[in-house]
Amino acid sequence: MNQIYLDNAATTAMDPQVIEAMMNVMINTYGNPSSVHQMGAASRDIIEDARQSIARLLKAEPSEIFFTSGATEAINTILEGAVKSLGVNHIITSPLEHPAVIETIDKLKTQYGVQISMVNFDELGQIDLQHLKELTKIPQKNLVCLMHANNELGNLLSIKKASEICKQNGAFFFSDTVQSMGKFKLNFAVNNLDFAAGSAHKFHGPKGVGFMFIRGGLSILPHMNGGPQERNMRAGTENISGIAGLAKAFEIAYENLDDISEKILSLKQHLIQRIKTEIPEAIFHGDSEGLYSIINIGLPKATHNKMLIFNMDVEGFAVSGGSACSSGVMNISHVIKALGKSDDYIPVRVSFSKYNNLEEIDKFVDVLKKY
Ligand code: PLP
Repeated sequence: MNQIYLDNAATTAMDPQVIEAMMNVMINTYGNPSSVHQMGAASRDIIEDARQSIARLLKAEPSEIFFTSGATEAINTILEGAVKSLGVNHIITSPLEHPAVIETIDKLKTQYGVQISMVNFDELGQIDLQHLKELTKIPQKNLVCLMHANNELGNLLSIKKASEICKQNGAFFFSDTVQSMGKFKLNFAVNNLDFAAGSAHKFHGPKGVGFMFIRGGLSILPHMNGGPQERNMRAGTENISGIAGLAKAFEIAYENLDDISEKILSLKQHLIQRIKTEIPEAIFHGDSEGLYSIINIGLPKATHNKMLIFNMDVEGFAVSGGSACSSGVMNISHVIKALGKSDDYIPVRVSFSKYNNLEEIDKFVDVLKKY
């Protein structure tokens, strides 16, 4: 496939070192981690080493990290667990969240009668922390559920400020950290997050494996039944090679984080600069100074650019409209709709990785200009 890949918020290419580490595990360490023999113990060691490594990088305790099939499962487990086990009856969130959060909360509202409050945000999608403060004062068992980096806009929430508000008012705090994991050095020892989620395929690891962080001392029911794995929190034989790949990818992400983030930021700034000068009628959805790896461009709607994302695909660029494509029909992004921009502008989300370069960005703008 000869496309220029600029859809790294959707998923990333695996780092060859991760593939090598996983191959090694798949070939040599295939015992069931629950088996008592030495081959089982060898597999168990791989899982525990991965847990130690992730916990060390996040400044968490190994006992606070639980492996899952990805962030969607982690999010379902955390939200449902908070309602069933911690007595949460009021969730404070926003319509800018990922569908894994929105749909799980909808289900909790229908099935358990959980009250939902939406926090205000401005025209860029920045969360109103004053309103958050007011909502957390409502005398209920409150859970704040707000993502760290928005997957469509790149907007960043101050976890420090939001978690301080939650702590002051006794609310639990879950932040979907999927897009920021491996992009910043998150420190779970100093912030007051109760729950977080990560997914390996967003930082050059394998698909179908992730983890949840559950603050020590909090105990929630598992989402699935049928086995004692992950200290009874996630039934089912572990994805050993996936877990090894997850840890390897996370370690690599931290190795050259400063250089890589600087390089990606310069690509983003170059793209913004060229758009501003060469497509002045374009806007940016969200905070263009948010996460360094995401920018969401809005092109004024016209008859010739109705199929923009498909056109760009044919022209050789993998980008996203920030919308899900189901049964061949492109749905308008719920995030862009919530910002009130969907009638006039077509969103084009460009998301970068360490594998992109300036030449690719230049080629992209040269083609985008035609639309
Ligand atoms: N949350 C956010 C912000 C995401 O971007 C994604 C992935 O698209 C998810 C959750 C779901 O992650 P996974 O693919 O691991 O289920």
